[in-house]
Amino acid sequence: MSEFVVMGYPIAHSLSPRIHHAFGRLVGKEVTYERQEVAAGTLAQALAAFVAAGGRGANITVPLKAEACALADRLSGRARRAMAVNTILWEHGLMVGDNTDGVGFIRDLVVNQGLSLRDRTVLLVGAGGAAQGIAGPLLDEGVARLVIVNRTPARATQLVASLADDRAYAGLLSEQGEPFDFVINATAAGLAGAVPALPGIVFQGAVAYDLVYGARADGFLSCARLGGAKLAVDGLGMLVEQAAESFWLWHGMRPPVAPVLQALRADI
Ligand code: NAP
Repeated sequence: MSEFVVMGYPIAHSLSPRIHHAFGRLVGKEVTYERQEVAAGTLAQALAAFVAAGGRGANITVPLKAEACALADRLSGRARRAMAVNTILWEHGLMVGDNTDGVGFIRDLVVNQGLSLRDRTVLLVGAGGAAQGIAGPLLDEGVARLVIVNRTPARATQLVASLADDRAYAGLLSEQGEPFDFVINATAAGLAGAVPALPGIVFQGAVAYDLVYGARADGFLSCARLGGAKLAVDGLGMLVEQAAESFWLWHGMRPPVAPVLQALRADI
């Protein structure tokens, strides 16, 4: 059995084993990492069985991030702020929950894309676990204004309230009437071949970013280009960066990201 795992449902599509095995090869460390299908409501049993069999670290993905947050004995500051856990490690028998999505997202924008968020206006679309994970780190980067919109508006209002920051506002998807510097799609719409119903004006001159990657980001990124976006980026870089941060938490080593990202990009 593997020492590391990614749990979620569905899970067959997950690139995490490939990424962690590649990191291991690059730093000269043997890494055993596998996927495990875990249905909502059964994470506690799955984690108990995993750790009893010698498991050392787990990534948690849709739809289990909130469940993992409730199960952890201890939460890192960033997991508590996001109310979502995507990385688990065990320390002295205690289950520690962390969240590497926010730092992975920011590193992709700032380091890989060479962009700055300081004093920029940002439209964040979505209010689920992924949006919760990146909203706080966006504010930390010094954005001037963060407008959050969601298909179910009440969740955007709730997320804004939890941020308690006067630069953050909740808005309505279809009522955005001006361009933003950054438009970030943190919804799962792309997984269903859908695109959030945003007015084209928001993309004029913007950097558009979809957390979803590959062909499933095409709908949103095409709309963004049609609306005049100057750059349209998918979430593959974030995926590799959040994995690199988990790798660091588990192994105490920072793996090189660029060769892994390049190899995945050539394949998807
Ligand atoms: P989640 O907690 O289930 O939230 C889903 C979000 O998408 C909600 O805001 C939901 O709105 C919205 N949504 C779903 N279908 C929609 C549609 N057809 N039109 C408009 N909005 C829709 O999921 P999550 O954890 O936030 O993940 C969101 C996406 O980010 C997933 O596709 C995931 O794969 C991706 N992600 C990528 C990375 C990466 O490393 N690249 C990391 C984390 C997540 P309602 O509130 O109205 O339901």
